[in-house]
Amino acid sequence: MDQNFPKGSRARVIIVGGGFGGIELAKKLRHQDIDVVMVDKHNYHTFQPLLYQVATGGLEAESIAFPLRKIFKGQRNLTFRVAELLAVDTQRNCIRTSIGTMEYDHLVLATGSTSNFFGQQEIQANAMPMKSIPEALNLRSLFLQNLELAQIEEDPQTLKQLLNFVVVGGGPTGVETAGAIAELKKHILKNDYPELNIDLVNIYLVEGSPEVLGVMSDQASKKAMDFLKELGVTVMTNTRVLGYDGKILKLGDKADIPASNVIWSAGVKGVIPEGMDPAVVVRGNRLKVNEISRVDGYHNIYAIGDVSAMITEEFPNGHPGVAPTAIQQGKLLAENLMKIMENKPTENFKYRDKGSMATVGRNRAVVDLHKIRFQGVFAWFTWMFVHLMTLVGFRNKLVVFVNWVWSYFSYDRGTRLIIRPYVKEKLNEQRTIE
Ligand SMILES: Cc1cc2nc3c(=O)[nH]c(=O)nc-3n(C[C@H](O)[C@H](O)[C@H](O)COP(=O)(O)OP(=O)(O)OC[C@H]3O[C@@H](n4cnc5c(N)ncnc54)[C@H](O)[C@@H]3O)c2cc1C
Repeated sequence: MDQNFPKGSRARVIIVGGGFGGIELAKKLRHQDIDVVMVDKHNYHTFQPLLYQVATGGLEAESIAFPLRKIFKGQRNLTFRVAELLAVDTQRNCIRTSIGTMEYDHLVLATGSTSNFFGQQEIQANAMPMKSIPEALNLRSLFLQNLELAQIEEDPQTLKQLLNFVVVGGGPTGVETAGAIAELKKHILKNDYPELNIDLVNIYLVEGSPEVLGVMSDQASKKAMDFLKELGVTVMTNTRVLGYDGKILKLGDKADIPASNVIWSAGVKGVIPEGMDPAVVVRGNRLKVNEISRVDGYHNIYAIGDVSAMITEEFPNGHPGVAPTAIQQGKLLAENLMKIMENKPTENFKYRDKGSMATVGRNRAVVDLHKIRFQGVFAWFTWMFVHLMTLVGFRNKLVVFVNWVWSYFSYDRGTRLIIRPYVKEKLNEQRTIE
């Protein structure tokens, strides 16, 4: 055991992951007579819904991140450690981390998800994921570096490659990213790169199914398609990506696209540590849990949010991988953990669907609030309001609000900086630590 961090006499709950689920759970345990340990490989919480704005120079990375220590300031029963979870020893009730071993009475895995390349190694090695702040910054640097190279490129084929932007995956993230790149082209690039023929910049959105935003209503899906076309995005539905070598994107039965900028937002998979029984891992690399978030086959290990799959009659594939699922599961698990410790009956999880929304550039968004559906400018303001309200930290809310107001009136995006140049050779090394 880690001699520097021995378990006390009180029950210890270890929460791995300071994302939406982990934070909610830890906060709800604030006044309980137990020890809570939160472990995260980063010292900050990431507000993933706005990652694409960091990648496209709309927001500074700091405005969508929040220090975890600050979130738990004053929470006396909580200890926070920056550490990476390496494995779970389910026999000895302890976790092995990058800073040592820690014992638990109850373990909660809230480790979220990572990009899923569906085993396609060539694509994984060359396409750009966008699941973390370092990855969003990589993307921003790559875009800007390629535009700088395009300024001086004389070979027309290479120029085409440098100026083609392809977003793979037509879910909310893909649609929002493609829309933001289109806005960048329309309002920024022609001023920033006067020597470049901006008409050569092409933005593609490639989706394997027949429509974009398949998780939303038909109305939202069709409207998003119209918005994307208005912005000049070439939407390719029913199109599968077969390979990408860093230069050419190979598509099923359609012509290849030469592209140096390929963003992968085609799927996610749960982040599961070593030591868990493979028999409890289900579709999407998620841990199968029961209706109180307890992992099948374990009496004191729980999983919430993106890493979990609570399979019910109503949700045969588990609940949607969105922030409200993680938050609601974290909240209920806090109550249930206390009930378990006090030998009281637990309460089953009931998902409250808060609706869904996506923005497609300036003044354009689609919102589905159950039977109420609307699109356009009002939807866009609704989208902004909801995201501002859910951002962690008053300072972040204020910074993002000011940024958005400034961009709205000036048509500018303030952070087109290559502070940390993207070096492709370092990609795999970075991916293992991010
Ligand atoms: C680009 C993008 C846009 C999105 N947009 C929306 C949206 O608009 N609305 C919405 O509701 N949802 C959106 N989502 C989904 C939403 O962000 C996730 O569903 C939500 O973050 C899941 O919460 P979580 O607590 O399960 O995990 P996360 O919030 O992902 O947190 C997991 C935490 O675990 C930590 N961690 C992971 N592995 C380890 C390890 N081995 N050791 C230590 N720590 C570890 C991570 O550092 C992280 O802090 C989006 C996701 C992405 C990627």
